[in-house]
Amino acid sequence: MSHHIELPPLPYAQDALAPVISAETLSFHYGKHHKAYVDNLLKLVAGTELAEQPLEAVIKAVVGKPDRVGVFNNAAQIWNHTFFWNSLKPNGGGAPTGAVAKGIDAAFGSYENFKKEFANAAMTQFGSGWAWLVADKGQLKIVKTPNADTPLTTGQAALLTIDVWEHAYYLDYQNRRADFVAAVIDKLLNWDFANANLARAG
Ligand code: MN
Repeated sequence: MSHHIELPPLPYAQDALAPVISAETLSFHYGKHHKAYVDNLLKLVAGTELAEQPLEAVIKAVVGKPDRVGVFNNAAQIWNHTFFWNSLKPNGGGAPTGAVAKGIDAAFGSYENFKKEFANAAMTQFGSGWAWLVADKGQLKIVKTPNADTPLTTGQAALLTIDVWEHAYYLDYQNRRADFVAAVIDKLLNWDFANANLARAG
């Protein structure tokens, strides 16, 4: 994860997630949307004390402050998108591994039930937002957040996320969010990243 206000490189080639997520979608989603959040935030914090802060500190400094909502939205969206790219990998998906696999069985009963609950959270996030697998005091949970909101500010440790803003899937799936979510869960989730995040959460 980047700790500065910048557009980090994608962790794979722009065509590496096709056909689940096309190169065209990534060129817009990463190259236009994610980049715009970075460009916007750099303008908003230029010349202020926040300009030299790590991204996570910027987010935590402005969350919940009505007069800083623009800074929060852009900063949190930078963090969420970088986290999303790392939540995916070519030839990912399938059954989880390691401590995350044990945590999923403990929390959801089975991987099959986890898949249903994760997809349901992604489907029932009304409008724009995110579905997350998090660790909350050692317990794995599925949560959803609207717009730019992020578990970074709630004391939960994010393990994986799926972006369910329409810009994440409309070029490839049009209105079929369910097909996008199912394909991401089955073919792209990066369990190595989830395990690294869980280990860091302690
Ligand atoms: Mn997005």
